[in-house]
Amino acid sequence: MQEPGVTLDLVEENAALRARMDYLLEQAERNHDIMCRHHSFDLDIVGAGSFPDLVGTIFRQLPVVSELDVVTLALLDVGDDIHGTMHKLGVDFADFPHLVFVQAEAELGFVPSRSPLFTGPPKPLLGPYHPAAHQAMFPHAPAGLQSIALVPLLRNKRLIGSLNLGSVDPVRFTPSMGTDFVEHMGSIIAICLENVISNEMLKYIGLTDALTGVYNRRYMDLRMLEEIARAQRQSHRVSCMYIDIDHFKLVNDSAGHQGGDEVLREVAARIKAELRLSDALGRFGGEEFVVLLIDADGDSAGVVAERIRASVALSPFALSCDASVSVSVSIGVATLGEIGRERAIEALSQELVAQADSALYRAKEGGRNRVVSFAADEG
Ligand code: GH3
Ligand code: MG
Ligand code: MG
Repeated sequence: MQEPGVTLDLVEENAALRARMDYLLEQAERNHDIMCRHHSFDLDIVGAGSFPDLVGTIFRQLPVVSELDVVTLALLDVGDDIHGTMHKLGVDFADFPHLVFVQAEAELGFVPSRSPLFTGPPKPLLGPYHPAAHQAMFPHAPAGLQSIALVPLLRNKRLIGSLNLGSVDPVRFTPSMGTDFVEHMGSIIAICLENVISNEMLKYIGLTDALTGVYNRRYMDLRMLEEIARAQRQSHRVSCMYIDIDHFKLVNDSAGHQGGDEVLREVAARIKAELRLSDALGRFGGEEFVVLLIDADGDSAGVVAERIRASVALSPFALSCDASVSVSVSIGVATLGEIGRERAIEALSQELVAQADSALYRAKEGGRNRVVSFAADEG
């Protein structure tokens, strides 16, 4: 027969072991859960198809997955290339208040290495949040932000930005913590960012004219089909302008090819200044531009065309060689009337451009520096 005291000890030990095991199981389940969430987050960011898709996924999911109070991204963008291209591709930065662009490495918030011998890339910086030093990385810091991790985003040892994590818990990030996990997260995010940024840059190059920065013909052809289909559905008018610089050969002859290129850029800029954001401007080749005006009837398209003509003719173009040259444009305008549903979009698009081109021909015949609208009887 066992002594009662021994039985009691065993029962207590057993209960303690059980409690310990429950705790460990709970921890294991929690860790498994965190791992699954991170795994699914990794898959989502690797699969992001565009820049807004990627940064949107990071800002939406990472605070939840990692139980953080704020997550921001800073991108090193010397020369404003990334920001400028994304803006031209239609990215609305108001959607991403936690996205920061910096012009120089020093703005990223990593303490420069104290040893002049060590010139390697920066390591993650974990510790208390000091507004004076870190506010630039957390432009919308939540109240009570206490500890942060600034994780360098590196590609081939080159710093491309930082992933910045923040918590109201003062011991969430401390200088003595290991950094393997955040470094791993940083390296996946860096690859994804570099990938979508170069894809977006390629997309942009494929849609735009390198000399003037306006859309190219390929884009305009596609956009025209899209807009005519939309106009057909929503019963609004679409107008088109065909713009050709007058006697451009003479501009090249007098100002040189380089001067001619400068004139092309400035003409594009003056046209653009007269348009609405919803309109599309493309260079169709040489010294010819096409504008697609959305929801504009013949009369309003004529008014815009006249504004463009006047703006080009108003003041001479100053060239970098210190010369200046006077330039004018001729513009043909055409409008799609009631768009019958029986007509093919492609045929309507070709017809619209052909009508604007034919009106342009009349403007040239009529003496140049003028706007002519296509009349139905022109055929
Ligand atoms: P018009 O008033 O009848 O339109 O006369 P034009 O001289 O403007 O027309 P034409 O079509 O005879 O000449 C267009 C010129 O545009 C010829 C070509 O050398 C020049 N050109 C085409 N592309 C470029 C370019 O990218 N840069 C420069 N500088 N010139 C170009
Ligand atoms: Mg021409
Ligand atoms: Mg011309």
